[in-house]
Amino acid sequence: MEEASPFKLVAGHVALDFVNTLDYRYQPERTVDLIPTYEEFLRFCMEAGVITASDASSLRQRAQRREAVLRSASELREALERIFDAIIRALPSPAGDLAILNSHLKEAAQNRSLTENGGRIGWEWEGLEENAAGPLWLIAEAAARLLTSEEVELVRQCGSETCRWLFLDASKNHSRRWCDMKLCGNRVKARKHYQRTRT
Ligand SMILES: [Zn+2]
Repeated sequence: MEEASPFKLVAGHVALDFVNTLDYRYQPERTVDLIPTYEEFLRFCMEAGVITASDASSLRQRAQRREAVLRSASELREALERIFDAIIRALPSPAGDLAILNSHLKEAAQNRSLTENGGRIGWEWEGLEENAAGPLWLIAEAAARLLTSEEVELVRQCGSETCRWLFLDASKNHSRRWCDMKLCGNRVKARKHYQRTRT
């Protein structure tokens, strides 16, 4: 049997799920990178629907420069985290971080073109099945779409101090506080209850 996935895709948006792959980011002694290898990065991209299983298996065999792309993925992830964090706090986005995102978007733009398929025109990514950086083009694109949409106002940080995962609050009255009720909400509630009953 295959081991359980390390990824909890609860953010409601792939760019935010990507940011959440550095777990316990704000607690250095507990920080866990859920994509420590290029293979795990591919697994995340496949499970999050960024690439198909067939692209993932092709990349697993053919991708070059894996270490460099993994470093670049981690750099993009931290840049996105700081950009969204600034938005949540109503602060200006750090210029260097937008530059990192822009460089991925430029590379993405160079590798896509419109093609017709079965009477429909859509984007086609050239070399997605063999270019190690291909999945990052799609993540950068998805992040840019979110950043430039009105939905960006619904990006929140989990109310658990130790978690602080990002998510898109799609609840009706925009009152969602936890990345996931099971993962964090219940834990925090249980702790508060425990503290109350102790005092
Ligand atoms: Zn949480």
